[in-house]
Amino acid sequence: MPERFNWQIGRKMRYPFDAPPPQRQVAYIFDTNKCIECQTCTVACKTCWTAGKGQETVFWNNVETKPYGGYPVGWDLRLLEKTDAARWRGERLLSPTIFETEEEKDPPNGHRPAVEDYSAPNLGEDDITGMVEEGAAFGGVHPMWMFYLARICNHCDHPACLAACPRRAIYKREEDGIVLVDQERCRGYQECVRACPYKKVFYNLIGRVSEKCIGCFPRVENGNVALCVESCIGKIRMHGFLSTQEDPREDNPLDYIVKIRKLALPLYPQAGTSPNVFYIPPIHVPNGFLEQLFGPGVERSKRLYREVRNDPKLLGALLLFGSTNRIITRFAVRDEEAIGWAENGEEVARVPFTEPVYIRDHYDERFGVYRHNTT
Ligand code: SF4
Ligand code: SF4
Ligand code: SF4
Repeated sequence: MPERFNWQIGRKMRYPFDAPPPQRQVAYIFDTNKCIECQTCTVACKTCWTAGKGQETVFWNNVETKPYGGYPVGWDLRLLEKTDAARWRGERLLSPTIFETEEEKDPPNGHRPAVEDYSAPNLGEDDITGMVEEGAAFGGVHPMWMFYLARICNHCDHPACLAACPRRAIYKREEDGIVLVDQERCRGYQECVRACPYKKVFYNLIGRVSEKCIGCFPRVENGNVALCVESCIGKIRMHGFLSTQEDPREDNPLDYIVKIRKLALPLYPQAGTSPNVFYIPPIHVPNGFLEQLFGPGVERSKRLYREVRNDPKLLGALLLFGSTNRIITRFAVRDEEAIGWAENGEEVARVPFTEPVYIRDHYDERFGVYRHNTT
């Protein structure tokens, strides 16, 4: 079986499919500290892409409450039951990935959810880790927590769905790394559903083929961010590309946040697929739980986030989240403003570090009206 270097686990690993990396890799950063679980992203994706027959329980984008929530039910609990607990030495994974736990010819280790596991899209919503005692609100920080985890297909570097498909009906685009199902070739064997550790391939019971997030490729081809990114109320998302053919670039916001500063971390990197949705961990949640989800970089990431106000370049990169519906491929910080440019060189975002304040006269003589100033 071929071996591939997986930068997220700091070593080579067995992977049953060989292909060169794409010219660049589509990637997303989600700031979990800002998500309010309004599900606008979920609705935007659903109404645009999966409103057809057999797609009633298909949510290419979903937002779940951690630690207890999950869609399909228990997807990650069952992943953790199937695989060993992750063991790390520094940034190197010592334990086996899902590609290394079975015989070479077998598809990746996984499970196929039951139909009823898709019947409760937001089970566990807003559940916290315990009872809050009466009066706890007056005691300062209290030990109960929960947070919201938005999830889409990770358009992985080493997709388990692709490796598992006996029909080779799944492919990764050479130009941007988006992973797609060729529905003409798919025969509905659902090996992809079983193999994907994130359970982000869905089986359409009426169409009898597998379907998954298409990375909004028609929008990406026109330089626009995905719908779930554009519609995000909390401005928690950034969408762009990671460099694959050159060293990470300081002026590429995705390279800068993910690879250079290592503020945003992959979800369950121990699975080995090298996912391309990166999360800024919630700073109020204990490290033990977060390290299981995001790997060994959690403490460093939290420290960076807490100190970001003294870190102008990183702060500038974060301020560009949700600032435009165009994909930013280059950014800079100048005179306390973050500036973003699209691929064609057009300036598409300019965000000041401090929002300007305009105070209007209480009485507007021109229109003869009284005005209030609100923020
Ligand atoms: S739209 Fe944004 S803030 Fe709302 S649930 Fe989705 S990711 Fe969270
Ligand atoms: S998240 Fe799952 S469906 Fe998406 S590319 Fe990775 S393995 Fe395939
Ligand atoms: S990238 Fe597009 S298709 Fe994929 S979850 Fe977001 S809105 Fe849906």
